[in-house]
Amino acid sequence: MMLKDIFMSLSQNQFLNSTAKKYGLKMGAQSVVAGTNIEEAIKSIKDLNANGISCTVDNLGEFVFKEEEAAAAREQILKVIEAIHSNNADAHISLKPTQLGLDIDYSLCLNNVREIVDKANQYNMFVNIDMEDFKHLQPTLDLLDDLSLEYDNVGTVIQAYFHNAMDYLEKYKNYRIRLVKGAYKEPAEIAYQDKKDIDANYIKLIEWHLLNGKFTSIATHDHRIINHVKEFVKRNNIPNDKFEFQMLYGFRKELQLKLAKEGYNFCTYVPFGNDWYGYFMRRLAERPQNLNLVAKQVFNK
Ligand code: FAD
Repeated sequence: MMLKDIFMSLSQNQFLNSTAKKYGLKMGAQSVVAGTNIEEAIKSIKDLNANGISCTVDNLGEFVFKEEEAAAAREQILKVIEAIHSNNADAHISLKPTQLGLDIDYSLCLNNVREIVDKANQYNMFVNIDMEDFKHLQPTLDLLDDLSLEYDNVGTVIQAYFHNAMDYLEKYKNYRIRLVKGAYKEPAEIAYQDKKDIDANYIKLIEWHLLNGKFTSIATHDHRIINHVKEFVKRNNIPNDKFEFQMLYGFRKELQLKLAKEGYNFCTYVPFGNDWYGYFMRRLAERPQNLNLVAKQVFNK
């Protein structure tokens, strides 16, 4: 618990975040971040595609409080869409609303995300709006509501640690939804704190959405949950084209390949870019064993 809190607060440190940008991928981040530029990311995506794995691409970026930075992120994501299309890669986009200006102004953010969704739509490409902390939850759902008046290539994430996650899921059942346990530190009044409770709610949401929803992305590295899902879909005759498994780039690589080989749709979340620090610290907070990544890097010098 202590380590989790330390890494969580390190992930929110703006000074370290901006310092890290200057030095390229360090501390083992290179094994979980697919490069610092689009060319490197496309190469990683094509390698995964060659193994039957599709990708969702995240142009890393945090602490955006200036309009120009949000516009630069938008332009970069538009370039990623072009690169996916021109390289004929099997990939779509994941984006974070705060990177596109949600902390500056809702309409500014909506316009930035709309441009991205519009461009992706021209190539029949899906855009997932990642879910950040509770403060941003309602405005993120507002973005989805506003965008789906014009587009159907957009969906979002529901976090199982929230007590009322099922209410959100019921409301958004006709969307392509990524289900996760939840990565941020949230207060006990609104979110389960105990791993057992989070896991139980997670399974409940997955089963419900598999039976009632449009398309379910089950994003977890937890083999127990994955095995449970495999049995559940078999028992309920849920076809493979109704769901996919997702994991983060660089984690449990053998399991990723195994699931793809077994014929399940599999999608790897591919983060790339200079702004890797906060993402990397959150992965360490989630699972301090990920410190192995850092240790290997230090001792392999
Ligand atoms: P955990 O609960 O961390 O682990 C459960 C068990 O799985 C462990 O005890 C261990 O036995 C096994 N395990 C886990 N990791 C490993 C490993 N690396 N190697 C070996 N065994 C392992 N969160 C958000 O809040 N918003 C988002 O938009 C979001 N998007 C995500 C997208 C993807 C593709 C993924 C995979 C996660 C995303 N998350 C997101 C993070 C998510 O909420 C969890 O914080 C994160 O996935 C950790 O939980 P877990 O389900 O993977 O397993």
